[in-house]
Amino acid sequence: MTENNENEGKKSLNFIESIIEEDLKNNKNNGIVYTRFPPEPNGYLHIGHAKSICLNFGLAQKYNGKTNLRFDDTNPSKEEVEYVDSIKEDVRWLGFEWEGEPHFASDYFDQLYEWAIKIIKNGKAYVDDQAPDLISQQRGTPTNPGTESPYRNRSVEENLDLFERMKNGEFEEGERVLRAKIDMASPNMHMRDPIMYRVLRKAHHRTGDKWCIYPMYDFAHGQSDYIEGITHSVCTLEFEVHRPLYEWFLENVYTEGTVKPRQIEFARLNLSYTIMSKRKLLELVQKNIVNGWDDPRMPTITGLRRRGYTPASIRKFADTIGVAKRDNVIDVALLEHSLRDDLNKKSPRVMAVLNPLKIVITNYPEDKEEWVSIDNNPEDESMGTREMPFSREIYIEQDDFMEDAPKKFFRLAPDKEVRLKAAYIIKCEEVIKDSDGNITELRCTYDPDSKSGSGTEASKRKVKGTLHWVSAKHAIDAEVRLYDRLFNDEDPAGHKDKDFKEFINPESLQILTNCKLEPSLKDAEPESKYQFQRLGYFCTDRRDSKPGHLVFNRTVPLKDSWSKKNK
Ligand code: ATP
Ligand code: MG
Repeated sequence: MTENNENEGKKSLNFIESIIEEDLKNNKNNGIVYTRFPPEPNGYLHIGHAKSICLNFGLAQKYNGKTNLRFDDTNPSKEEVEYVDSIKEDVRWLGFEWEGEPHFASDYFDQLYEWAIKIIKNGKAYVDDQAPDLISQQRGTPTNPGTESPYRNRSVEENLDLFERMKNGEFEEGERVLRAKIDMASPNMHMRDPIMYRVLRKAHHRTGDKWCIYPMYDFAHGQSDYIEGITHSVCTLEFEVHRPLYEWFLENVYTEGTVKPRQIEFARLNLSYTIMSKRKLLELVQKNIVNGWDDPRMPTITGLRRRGYTPASIRKFADTIGVAKRDNVIDVALLEHSLRDDLNKKSPRVMAVLNPLKIVITNYPEDKEEWVSIDNNPEDESMGTREMPFSREIYIEQDDFMEDAPKKFFRLAPDKEVRLKAAYIIKCEEVIKDSDGNITELRCTYDPDSKSGSGTEASKRKVKGTLHWVSAKHAIDAEVRLYDRLFNDEDPAGHKDKDFKEFINPESLQILTNCKLEPSLKDAEPESKYQFQRLGYFCTDRRDSKPGHLVFNRTVPLKDSWSKKNK
């Protein structure tokens, strides 16, 4: 085989894989690859987190490593157990399993406290009595150095005493903080004596009232990585400027011969027509603009799941976009493409009529019914065929009929013929209307020799249109929720003078309550996925659908209608 052939179909390494392969070659960390996914339990996970999950777990899978799930729960005020549970469920649903039990940064509060004491003893941390506002004023600006605190040169003994009293609850919030003693003139603002601990008189969802001082993210994160033996600590680009501090803290607690984690940054995922900030997503939930975190219009993992996304389509998407070093925006159409691709292969085709128009086939016997055979998925013969009932009265889609049809309308019109998919050719003979002039019913005739697959001349006859349909007396009723993009602006959060909520798409949800489905769907389980022929991909709602009251969500139409809209 030539070298070219060998590389065919193989993707080249992304920059993180290159770093890891170099480390493996040098037997750094004894050849171990250990990553972690570190969410803060202050909201539900979104598609951006899914990217990070696929990356962290994917790297470990590729290099025979392990991945921890670690909750970064250093901020007691915003965190809730509900979020912890949802995060575990979402990671598993995406198809990943973490190593052992989930970890919590709060499990390390004792160790972090001891390390803080060690750093104080080394003369590299001090207790500052100044108010938070003053401390932040004294940080200076990127071009102007900061001002040293008058408390910076306290003795080790005094610092140890004050820090212990902070822990013992002798001070109020904002009265004292512990700061690292680094360099108030550093060009990197994060190195200007950053705060390590603050007083917070709040109960924590795991440690209860044990602590009234809590470590800052920067002091907790790298040390948690270190405790867990993480080799490659992958995070998003905004932490690049924190890296010197990450390394500074590690240097100050490091024991020779142990694994020293390396922080590697990549560009966070941004998607067009989507917001990805947990704070804004929470606002949508709290203001009832959407129906909860799992509303099928939400970019949360649980929302995507309820909408009908498959884990495979999300993993494929994450893989396709790769990892970038520069911020960019990915077209949401790419995510939808990955979804269609997966659903096209896996979903059985069925017939569903969303806006029914009744047809009476006048020359079809009243008491007759017959069953026609139809492929479950033309893309995959192994999915077999099923039988669908046909009878004198059927439903078609209202917009598949036009009374004054233009020439290019290849669906049903007065005196025109169409084929009913897998069944007969019918011809429209009469249009029935109510007293207001609304069309209520069509009278048609059928050609008895034209049955699909019967081999007759008439069965091979070409007519321009083929319609989906269901037999009226066999049809089952369903509610169908048509979802569309939640925002009608490419970058809803990117307008300086406008609130992102101004760009909510008023047509993002349309509920149809009179839909007619073929009877094979009668016992559809929650989260069953189908292609409704000619309409799109749909799935039963995992919360509201049950036999006897079926509720379907439209996952995605067959084609991307937005690319046309915007041209
Ligand atoms: P937000 O700023 O909306 O609160 P976050 O980044 O603070 O989100 P975390 O819970 O801290 O949320 O994120 C957990 C992990 O997921 C982090 O490693 C973070 O870098 C990563 N992550 C978050 N958002 C994205 C994104 N859009 N693309 C890729 N990774 C992301
Ligand atoms: Mg964060």
